[in-house]
Amino acid sequence: MSEYQKKVRVRFAPSPTGMLHIGGARTALYNYLFARQHGGTFLLRIEDTDTGRFVEGAEEYIFEALDWLGIKPDEPPVRQSARKRIYEEYVRLLLDNEKAYIAFDTAEELEAKRKETPNFQYDASTRMMMRNSLTLKQEDTQRLIETGHPYTVRIRIKPERIVTVNDLIRGEVKVNTSTLDDKVLWKSSDGMPTYHLANVVDDHLMGITHVIRGEEWLPSAPLHMLLYHYLKWEATMPTFAHLSLLLKPEGNGKLSKRDGERLGFPVFVLDYRERGYLPQAVVNFVALLGWNPGDDREVMSMEELIRTFDLSRCSRSGAKFDYEKAKWFNRQYLQSLSDAALADAFLTILKKKGVMAERDKVMRVVRLMKERIHFVNDLCEEAGFFFCAPMAYDEKTVKKRWKSGTSVQLREIASVLQNIDVTTPLAEEKVKEWIADKGYSIGDVMNALRLALVGEGKGPHLFEIIALLGKEETVQRIESCIACLSIPTSS
Ligand code: GLU
Repeated sequence: MSEYQKKVRVRFAPSPTGMLHIGGARTALYNYLFARQHGGTFLLRIEDTDTGRFVEGAEEYIFEALDWLGIKPDEPPVRQSARKRIYEEYVRLLLDNEKAYIAFDTAEELEAKRKETPNFQYDASTRMMMRNSLTLKQEDTQRLIETGHPYTVRIRIKPERIVTVNDLIRGEVKVNTSTLDDKVLWKSSDGMPTYHLANVVDDHLMGITHVIRGEEWLPSAPLHMLLYHYLKWEATMPTFAHLSLLLKPEGNGKLSKRDGERLGFPVFVLDYRERGYLPQAVVNFVALLGWNPGDDREVMSMEELIRTFDLSRCSRSGAKFDYEKAKWFNRQYLQSLSDAALADAFLTILKKKGVMAERDKVMRVVRLMKERIHFVNDLCEEAGFFFCAPMAYDEKTVKKRWKSGTSVQLREIASVLQNIDVTTPLAEEKVKEWIADKGYSIGDVMNALRLALVGEGKGPHLFEIIALLGKEETVQRIESCIACLSIPTSS
């Protein structure tokens, strides 16, 4: 019998507490790939029961980021805050079956306990010393509830039992229940369940077969398993797979927003879009953070990832974040775009900057520059000079390339260019011959010419630039440069 006999149903369950992190995108992607591979269903659940951590706009950000990446849920998203009634029902059931109890301890009382007892844990060893429905008389508990005393409902964990989590990535993880605390499942203050209860109830009601999530939730898995048992749902309990952490590029510790700021790379999904990444490149890069296909394949489309993805090949140790690799992936995808698509993207950027350019010229520039770029935006930096004549000349290059005879030589070159067809490969030969005949240095003249046309010392092959700019523009740029840089002699 196949392991996935039951139709696969997985979910991505982010809390709307901020922008979607690249690690969150990986969790979503792996769930999506797994669902698609098994002909299953991929769901999105917004876990927004912690009202204190809710961030306005975070939910929209998650939707937009997933949409951009092409990770599309198969059903409308489920929002936990709209399901308060449902959780209440299960809280009642747990209380009735003595799998949970009501606790009245205030935050101050708990704090005092923690101060007084090092490593204090609300559990089987301490609960009988606290203010809860197990220590109070039934009428007192009732009276406190009726008079509006805030309370929580805590799970009642039996100590000294072994819970075994069979994790698809980590194998067997055994935990002694004595190490677990009686976690709060529900709070009367806002009538909301906590993450643990809502998560388990929803996974059950949504028919989730596999819980694929970050390693930070592994310590909660035994508690979740106990809840499945307490609610008599063990027969349909999902299988767990906890993904290893994304680590700092140096490998020491969890990747954080600050690492991005410190090292200059984006950590949130839509910042990748902002930087000019193609979503396919981000998907490909993210897929390989902690998983590999078992061979040396790197560039893989979503379809190929769906076919190849395998949870058992996910690494148990953390995945180092390699930003250079992200750029590399973008370059691979960019190179595979058609010239026309790149030209359109570049035209849009130019338009935004108020630069009017002919599509034909943009196409020719793209063809020439494509190999040199990692991002469409790089075209502005690398090829902007094709559309805007230099407004200034790079100081360092001027110092190095502008010599006493340069203006004379450039003026002469301008007239040579005027008399030849600059669009043929012969132009280069003719110009070089002329320079040699005059006894000038080819390097000197060419470098000065580049400075005049580009404004600095970079750019593609000089005669490609001249051919693209055309004779008129080339000559004009030479003249402007001479006017700007030649120092009038006093004689
Ligand atoms: N809301 C949790 C999170 O933000 C979900 C964890 C899970 O998938 O169970 O990551």
